[in-house]
Amino acid sequence: MSGESFNPYRMAQQQFDGVAEQLGLDQATRNLLRVPDREMHFNIPIRMDDGSYQVFRGFRIQHNDARGPCKGGIRFHPQETVDTVRALSMWMTWKTAVVDIPLGGGKGGVICDPHNLSMREQEALCRGWVRKIVQYVGPERDVPAPDVMTSGQHMLWMLDEYEQLVGHKAPGFITGKPIGLGGSLGRTEATGFGVIYAVREALGEQGLRMEHTTASVQGFGNVAQHAIELLHSYGGKVLCVSSWDQKEQSAFCFRRKDGVDLKQLRSMTNSYGEISRAKAADAGYEVLPGDDWITQEVDVLIPAAMENQINRDTAPLISGSVKIIAEGANGPTTPPGDAIVHEKGIWLIPDFLANAGGVTCSYFEQVQSNQNYFWTRDEVISKLDTKMTDAYYAVSQMARRRNIPMRDAAYMIAIARVAEACKMRGWV
Ligand code: NAD
Repeated sequence: MSGESFNPYRMAQQQFDGVAEQLGLDQATRNLLRVPDREMHFNIPIRMDDGSYQVFRGFRIQHNDARGPCKGGIRFHPQETVDTVRALSMWMTWKTAVVDIPLGGGKGGVICDPHNLSMREQEALCRGWVRKIVQYVGPERDVPAPDVMTSGQHMLWMLDEYEQLVGHKAPGFITGKPIGLGGSLGRTEATGFGVIYAVREALGEQGLRMEHTTASVQGFGNVAQHAIELLHSYGGKVLCVSSWDQKEQSAFCFRRKDGVDLKQLRSMTNSYGEISRAKAADAGYEVLPGDDWITQEVDVLIPAAMENQINRDTAPLISGSVKIIAEGANGPTTPPGDAIVHEKGIWLIPDFLANAGGVTCSYFEQVQSNQNYFWTRDEVISKLDTKMTDAYYAVSQMARRRNIPMRDAAYMIAIARVAEACKMRGWV
């Protein structure tokens, strides 16, 4: 990552404060919503494969549950910080509210690098994480899900530990479960597909067509790969992708002027979404520095990796050809980056709207788990498209009506819904 480093929690609070002012929220509501409701920080001691012990730091942060049980993923990341988890929990509250699903916001994490952990050690970490917070989570309290460097396998270990502790089956405790074990068809691709549904509608509003669209994508993990898949299926082209190189501790971009070949790139990518530089170069991809994805002459930019990527230093490098930025990642744009993007006249679809497909499908998974009846993939995908498209238009109409950025409009809709729920419950 280059550019100024921005504390994501301060950024989330700054964004909230601005909208609270515009909405004229009373002080008690502001005090309630600008900090998480409850935080759990805990140690997870693990016996490692070599017989030694290591202690990992885990978190679960519940921002708000006025509209329903908290909902949000769990990250395994070496640079995880409590402030990142706080910010992500807050964004989850706005995300579930903007797509109008009956859930609140939470987020979890463990400071660890799964690259250096065996599968047995990762299982122990998942089970240890659940043991520390079992009394504060559950289908009616707080429902975790996968996020960066966690998968369906991690979710199933967590579910199994939870069910053993509570003494009964509880498939609604967690989402992102594998198919056949309580998972929903369509969940894996939901976030990336949701990003492209929003892009499709934004292009349509500008009189542009998907089949003539070019894009550059930061990241090549779950969100990025499925966004590319759907964009390709609409006839668009992705000219450049980037990914992290664990050995070099740096990111690299992979460019092909006539468009990347998704299937081929997947075949040279590990389970963490890291593309092999040597294999990509052999296959004819130009290998470029990690920040180059942002300078590409394309119509659409999709940051789908980490926070703070479009910032004071990188935003000025965005090409004049870019019309739309769809934030697949959470918090990829800092406030100074946002201001530059706005000045350039680029239509930015904010993270908690653009990437809400994942939590929407998680909600569908919970509904299916609770009724123990599973829908076909087509049913799931079509319900997802409807929900994302409706949410997109609610935000874009508000943005146009008030002549404000999409991020502000999305915040206004979401914060007003949450504030109303808090008020009706008699909390403030
Ligand atoms: P992932 O772990 O599957 O993939 C992350 C990708 O980013 C990998 O390709 C990795 O190599 C790349 N990466 C990491 N650091 C990078 C850097 N500095 N430069 C370039 N590439 C880098 O994660 P994911 O699930 O795809 O999540 C990506 C983002 O989307 C995160 O911000 C996450 O919180 C957000 N998100 C994910 C979901 C979901 O359903 N998976 C839902 C909503 C939001």
